[in-house]
Amino acid sequence: MKPVDPGCTPDFPEEALLAELDVLRRMLEEMDKPECATEGDGMVIMRLCSGLSLEGWESLHNRRDLRDWLALPLSANPFPYLARIQQTLQELVFLSEHDPLTKLYNRGAFERILSAELVRSARSGQPLALVLLDLDDFKLVNDTHGHPCGDRVIETIGALLAAEKRTYDSAARIGGEEFALILPGVGLVRAVGVIERLIESARSLRILCNGVSQPLRVTLSAGLACTKGKFAITSDTLYSLADKALYEAKAQGKDRLVAAPIADLTAPPDKTLVRADEKRFLFTGAIKG
Ligand code: GH3
Ligand code: MG
Ligand code: MG
Repeated sequence: MKPVDPGCTPDFPEEALLAELDVLRRMLEEMDKPECATEGDGMVIMRLCSGLSLEGWESLHNRRDLRDWLALPLSANPFPYLARIQQTLQELVFLSEHDPLTKLYNRGAFERILSAELVRSARSGQPLALVLLDLDDFKLVNDTHGHPCGDRVIETIGALLAAEKRTYDSAARIGGEEFALILPGVGLVRAVGVIERLIESARSLRILCNGVSQPLRVTLSAGLACTKGKFAITSDTLYSLADKALYEAKAQGKDRLVAAPIADLTAPPDKTLVRADEKRFLFTGAIKG
């Protein structure tokens, strides 16, 4: 007797199902998405596949990268499968919000969190700091030691940010070798302390790469922008201030932090807006004393 391939249920037309899923996937990609679509809009589309076993589906799923398709076997006890669907959905949500290399938030999640935190900051009158970080001369790492070694460096910096941030901070990888930290409740002076420590920690890293005899050293440049939470600031405004500060840090020689003027300082004069230590920092560069 011919052995049955566990990945191919004999009486189920696997190729026909794959073709059908492919047509559906393309149709969904080409469909005009209404601009007014709200969060939560979406459908689960179900189709009965007679003759397809759970084992057959799982094998197909793994072989043909069907991770965004979910299956619910018609069984006496659906709970294990519902639990699996829930786990898959959680994994999909994680994948849609996180960068696969560092497991930090991705750019989309970063933008969403920054906007939400800015609304919260303006409502509660609490400060917020945004830090943009960029690896210095990273192209040289790739060119000298290869792309996998570059990936290892990005992964290590990602792990450093994840380890150093507080629970309520958000760390994101927003570009190739660019990272961001959102620090709710943190004003200029405290943020400077946090970032200076982070830059120092990055400086003292010794990163090992396969096939590279010497451990690598890297440095980070950082741009900081803060709001005191006195006025509503858009995420674009705060981002642009931090980005200009990062550009300035690169121009001044890299491996350093530059802080932008406090975002809501340009609002109508109010003596209570700037604390004395912040003023001292802004106008003299002195952090303490
Ligand atoms: P600067 O100090 O001015 O920031 O210079 P730089 O070399 O770090 O910056 P540049 O923008 O010239 O180069 C960034 C490089 O990052 C180029 C690109 O190939 C690399 N890169 C982007 N994404 C990845 C990735 O996911 N993995 C690896 N290994 N490299 C990446
Ligand atoms: Mg760089
Ligand atoms: Mg860059």
